[in-house]
Amino acid sequence: MSRVWNFSAGPAALPEEVLRQAAEEMLDWHGAGMGVMEMSHRGKEFVAIAEAAEADLRELLAVPANYRILFMQGGAIAENAIIPMNLLGDKVVADYVLTGSWSVKSYKEARKYGQMNVAASAEATGFTAVPAMCDWQLSADPAYVFTCTNETIGGVEYPFEPDLAQIGRGEVPVVADMSSHILSRVIDVSKYGLIFGGAQKNIGPAGLTIVIVREDLLGRAMALCPSAFDYRTVAEAGSMYNTPPTYAIYIAGLVFQWLKRQGGVAAMEARNVAKARLLYDYLDGSGFYESRVDPACRSRMNVPFFLKDESLNDAFLSGAKEAGLVQLKGHKSVGGMRASIYNAMPIEGVAALVDYMKAFAARHG
Ligand SMILES: *Cc1c(COP(=O)(O)O)cnc(C)c1O
Repeated sequence: MSRVWNFSAGPAALPEEVLRQAAEEMLDWHGAGMGVMEMSHRGKEFVAIAEAAEADLRELLAVPANYRILFMQGGAIAENAIIPMNLLGDKVVADYVLTGSWSVKSYKEARKYGQMNVAASAEATGFTAVPAMCDWQLSADPAYVFTCTNETIGGVEYPFEPDLAQIGRGEVPVVADMSSHILSRVIDVSKYGLIFGGAQKNIGPAGLTIVIVREDLLGRAMALCPSAFDYRTVAEAGSMYNTPPTYAIYIAGLVFQWLKRQGGVAAMEARNVAKARLLYDYLDGSGFYESRVDPACRSRMNVPFFLKDESLNDAFLSGAKEAGLVQLKGHKSVGGMRASIYNAMPIEGVAALVDYMKAFAARHG
């Protein structure tokens, strides 16, 4: 068996330790005589797995007691509809901050459910920066302010937490799509009304959506909101109103335990800073490659980059594959290359990429 360095944006690489443990437990989980996929979601074994996963996530992110953690389905894209259906309540407007493809998609979907106001947009920069909070034009009484704090496609990450108290609007709940950087850096959950993300970037298998929601925001769903997507219904049922994605929750739980063994989120953040610095420093100094994102807003997780001579793109990608470095092609809307370096990517993988990039530049420079 040989494993490659996988730079996929998602579904993405998982820690090898986690995959090995899952393989060992595949046929017989802890003497249960069956694997996790075969268990009733209401049996004591699986309930223990789900409770431990939730408790570990709560500990890793220091989630305050007045927040509920929900294990849902439908991915972040379904949440684009589920959020306005749940949070608009008796208000008519919500505010959106547009920083790239994902927040734009969220905004467009939300318009099916109410009046959505663009509070700020980085479109004029080609979505290469995050508008400063002092320039956000919030409406008079929004139900929430929507943000995507790491734009996976453009590689733009908020260099600040969107704490509305700093602009005198602390009463408005902030919603954050953290799909592609949740657990990669320390955050203050109490600054948000709702945090959500698909699991397949930085947590586990596709099919699981994590929602962390402040309790006072429950119970406002529109009458037409599907019961399985009503946050209060899901919360009251302990995320088991319908059959949850049990195997994905189990793997997520193993990833949370792995994160704790790594020293938790602060330790991961330090590693992620070092990984990102290694790659960006090389890009900036190379003369051969470039990053086009505002240096203040460059994502630590998703690093789009370009060869200055784009006619070499195919040669770059095929040489990378031969060197065991895969999934480096940029998103079609951006072009060029993209290296996603989530928690599960060790610094050795980033170093292998930089070594390959150096050798390629020397050959073609
Ligand atoms: C991947 C991604 C999505 C889409 O997630 P799905 O699971 O496909 O619904 C949405 N937002 C961000 C920031 C993402 O990275």
